Amino acid sequence: MDDRLISDYVKNIEVSGIRKFFNKVNKYQDAISLTLGQPDFKLPKEIKEGLIHAINNDKTGYTSNIGINELREEISVYLKTINIDYNKDEICLTVGGSEALFDVFTTVLNPFDKVLIPTPAYPAYESCTKLLGAIPINYTLNAEFLLDIDKIEMLIKKEKPKVLVISFPTNPTGAVMIKEDRDKLYEIIKRNNILVITDEIYSSLCFDKDYYSISQFKDIKEKVILIGGFSKMFSMTGLRIGYLCAEDKYMKHIIKVHQYNTSCAPSIVQWGALYGLKYCMEDVEYMKKQFIKRRNYAYERLTNLGFQVNFPKGAFYIFPSINKYNMSSERFCNRLLEEGKVAVVPGSAFGRAGEGYIRISYAYSYEELKEAFNRIEKWLKTI
Ligand code: PMP
Repeated sequence: MDDRLISDYVKNIEVSGIRKFFNKVNKYQDAISLTLGQPDFKLPKEIKEGLIHAINNDKTGYTSNIGINELREEISVYLKTINIDYNKDEICLTVGGSEALFDVFTTVLNPFDKVLIPTPAYPAYESCTKLLGAIPINYTLNAEFLLDIDKIEMLIKKEKPKVLVISFPTNPTGAVMIKEDRDKLYEIIKRNNILVITDEIYSSLCFDKDYYSISQFKDIKEKVILIGGFSKMFSMTGLRIGYLCAEDKYMKHIIKVHQYNTSCAPSIVQWGALYGLKYCMEDVEYMKKQFIKRRNYAYERLTNLGFQVNFPKGAFYIFPSINKYNMSSERFCNRLLEEGKVAVVPGSAFGRAGEGYIRISYAYSYEELKEAFNRIEKWLKTI
């Protein structure tokens, strides 16, 4: 096919390394996969009822572009429980956090604008940036995968980026924002002309008691856009619902991108998510407790196997170093899959600083985790 027919920007990006690896796993029928960021819990009962209720009541037409009032109001209530203040008119419902990210990037970026993106990080930030002809500038995290505030300030001064992307709790490392970093970052944002896009899709999976976010400061709200979603919170990844929060000066433009992109989030699912927030917060707590147990188990197994690994405090990923094995993360994962019959994601799928690590998702049952770690243990003895 004539390559000139494809946009240069699109040619410049790749299929996500997570998906690439997941697709490979399908060829190994006997392998255990710990690749996907998808909770193994069933959809909570009341959400199912909400979906069915919406169907039976013919709630199948377009909703307003921004989404149904009831859910936006309930999101506003939820956010207040983690000290984040957005009213319903500052919240737009989207087709997953993915669409929210895409809408926001499209709304704010011109070609050649610079975007500070953490590495390692969820690959969408860099790909969205490149798709718009903007320029990603990676900033590395510290040894605990937390923000290196001095480095960020230095890069803001040097590169004059338009946008700073942050994401806590983090995919792929499981790190969460700490108070000290939040407060230091706040001072920097106050002093500089920059917009923060903060992806907090794992907000309900912070294992610490207190939740810290840059979106908790009212006086810099005009410099912050928040991304959220329900895929992970309610174990409903395939139902595709998320949201973004922004002040009106952004929202009035974002809504145009959202309108031409999808018109509105799926109507039935909007009602389902509403039931989730109203009736399923105990399920969320239950799932969190299970993830904490699995996190503890995965951490213990990995440290016993001699891996150097940070103790994750949120999301459902653990990100051990494989440096001592003298293999690229891709080779390590290929061999582990082919010889050890366990699939995990190469750290390189999460950017430059992901090399030397592997991402293990513990959003899988205890039995699967146990079997996978047994296989890893056995395989390590052979290499
Ligand atoms: N942000 C992060 C950090 C993620 O890990 C994901 C999904 N893996 C998303 C956004 C998008 O999720 P969804 O579109 O399912 O809401």
